Amino acid sequence: MRILKQRLSAFPLKTLILFLLLAHIVLLWPLPALAADKIKVVTSLEDLAAITRAVGGDKVEVFSIGKGYQNPHFVPPKPSFILKLKGADMVVQVGMGLEPWLQPLMDSSRNSRIFRGSPGFVDASVGVPALGVPVGRVDRSMGDVHGLGNPHYWLDPVNAKYISANIVSGLKRVDPADGAYFEQQRQIFLKRLAGKLTGWVKQAKPLQGLHVVTYHQSWPYFANRFGLNVVGFIEPQPGIPPSAKYLAGLIPKLKNQNVKLIIMEPYFNRQSADMVAKAIGAKVVVLPPSVGGTPEVTDYFGLFDYQLSALLKNL
Ligand SMILES: [Zn+2]
Repeated sequence: MRILKQRLSAFPLKTLILFLLLAHIVLLWPLPALAADKIKVVTSLEDLAAITRAVGGDKVEVFSIGKGYQNPHFVPPKPSFILKLKGADMVVQVGMGLEPWLQPLMDSSRNSRIFRGSPGFVDASVGVPALGVPVGRVDRSMGDVHGLGNPHYWLDPVNAKYISANIVSGLKRVDPADGAYFEQQRQIFLKRLAGKLTGWVKQAKPLQGLHVVTYHQSWPYFANRFGLNVVGFIEPQPGIPPSAKYLAGLIPKLKNQNVKLIIMEPYFNRQSADMVAKAIGAKVVVLPPSVGGTPEVTDYFGLFDYQLSALLKNL
C-alpha cells in the first residue's frame, strides 16, 4: 500500500493534467471518415457502382458484384459476395430481370436491411422509360432474358438521371443526415453529364442512320440516343447462342441491308460475329457495355467516350 502511495505521489500532477488534456483533445479531434463509418453499398453492375460513387462521394464505400467484362445476365456466384451483402447498408440493382443471380445471394446474406422493400434496397430502373416491354404472355422457356422489357437502359446516358435519383433516394433513406450532400453531389454529376452529352451527340453525327447488327439486344437505348439503326441480331433470342442453321438463315436477310458494323460485347464468342461479318462485308467492333469492360473505362463518362470513339474509328 505504501509503495502504491509512493508511486502515485511520484506521478507529477502537472504531467497528469497534461495527459488528460491531450486525451481530451485527441478524443474531440474531428477524424477523417473511416471506412467503418461509410455507407457500405453493394451494386450488381459496375455502372451502378460508378454512379453511386459519383453521388455518394466520400460518404460511401462501393463494391460491385458483377464486373464490366462479364455478361451481366450470368454472373457466377461466390461465397465472398454473400459476405459483402451481409455487411451492406444498401444494395443497388439494375432490375427488369437483368440479374436473376442476385436474389439468391441476397437471401443467403440474411441481411434484412437490404431486402426488397427495406430502406437499403434500390431498384435503379424505377421511372426509366423502358424499351422492349413485351405485350402479352412472357414465356421464359424460350430463354428470353428480357422478359420484363430491355434492361440495358444504362446505355443511354440520359437515363442516368433516373438511376442517380433512385440511388440518392436510397442513400437518403439510409443516411438522412447527409441528404443535402447527396443531392448536391447529384447536381454536380448531372451538370457534368449534360455537358458531356452535348459533346457525345455532336461526336455521334457520323453514326446517324448507320445500319448495324448487334450480337445481343444490349444496344437499343444507346442506338436511340446516338442515331444508330439496329437491323438484326446474332443471337436468335436474347441469351440464346446462335446455331449454324440460324446464322445461315440470317446472312441472306442482312445482305442487302448495307450493314457497316457488327457490335458485340467482349464476353461473346467472336466466331459467329466474324463469320456473319465476312459474309455480308461488315466489320466487327467489340464494345464494352459497362464500366470496367475494358481497363480504360473507369467511370460512367469514360464508357461513352470509349464506345463512341471505337465506333467512329471503325467507320
Ligand atoms: Zn440482355
